[in-house]
Amino acid sequence: MDILENSIIKECMSMNIILMGPPGAGKGTQATKLVNKYGLTQISTGDLFRKALSEQTKYGVIAKYFMQFGHLVPDDYTIEMVREYLKENTFENGFILDGFPRTIVQARELESIAKEFNFTIDAIINLDIPQEKLVSRLSGRRTCKNCGTTFHVEFNPPKVTGVCDKCGGELYQREDESVEAVTVRLDTYNKQTRPLIDYYTMKGTIININGDQPMEDVFKDIEKSLEGK
Ligand code: ADP
Ligand code: AMP
Repeated sequence: MDILENSIIKECMSMNIILMGPPGAGKGTQATKLVNKYGLTQISTGDLFRKALSEQTKYGVIAKYFMQFGHLVPDDYTIEMVREYLKENTFENGFILDGFPRTIVQARELESIAKEFNFTIDAIINLDIPQEKLVSRLSGRRTCKNCGTTFHVEFNPPKVTGVCDKCGGELYQREDESVEAVTVRLDTYNKQTRPLIDYYTMKGTIININGDQPMEDVFKDIEKSLEGK
């Protein structure tokens, strides 16, 4: 696809997407591709909490304890943070919610926030992947300290070990990626977030995508599912 065609798509398209899936399913990876192709804005609640943590803001101080052990940050604070973010920013081409909602309470609150701020959610994409694949994805993930781009030591290695291809920043392993924290995060997902699949299935709005295939193939399936939206 040439630059012109790409920019036409960017101009024409405005849509808001929820990207769901267990930790390590590839939400961040696919969100980056959607951002690059369609000019959407990625809103990752995990990234917002990590930024808040590094800046020692109110949300960071609250989130620290929950995040380091792999628990969800309580709904009240998470919803308040997302609400503020949506209120204070504009999204010319639409946005991708990556990692929100993660509970039924958050999903319901998102519906009222959408009414209040007058936006719609146009697609809910669920990345489906067998649980046993997730531990290796998470333990091999490396994140850039500077720009947040993620790599994988085996499946998507950087050109130079420990260095971000995109900005040259240092790659690090997240604190919540110890075997213990990963186990808790997957358990938390199964108990608190997986029920959202049924919630959205009953509403008839979910698009299930096979996340257990090469990154480019996952993206092709996402693109196909968005055609005509
Ligand atoms: P999430 O945002 O859902 O937690 P990420 O996008 O960060 O997941 O992906 C987790 C790890 O798995 C990263 O290291 C990423 O490079 C790798 N990864 C993502 N998608 C795939 C894929 N389709 N095949 C193999 N590895 C992948
Ligand atoms: P992530 O980067 O999406 O893997 O999120 C990292 C951590 O941030 C999670 O393990 C939670 O502690 C916290 N977090 C991110 N999003 C949410 C959310 N929607 N609700 C509660 N906690 C969240």
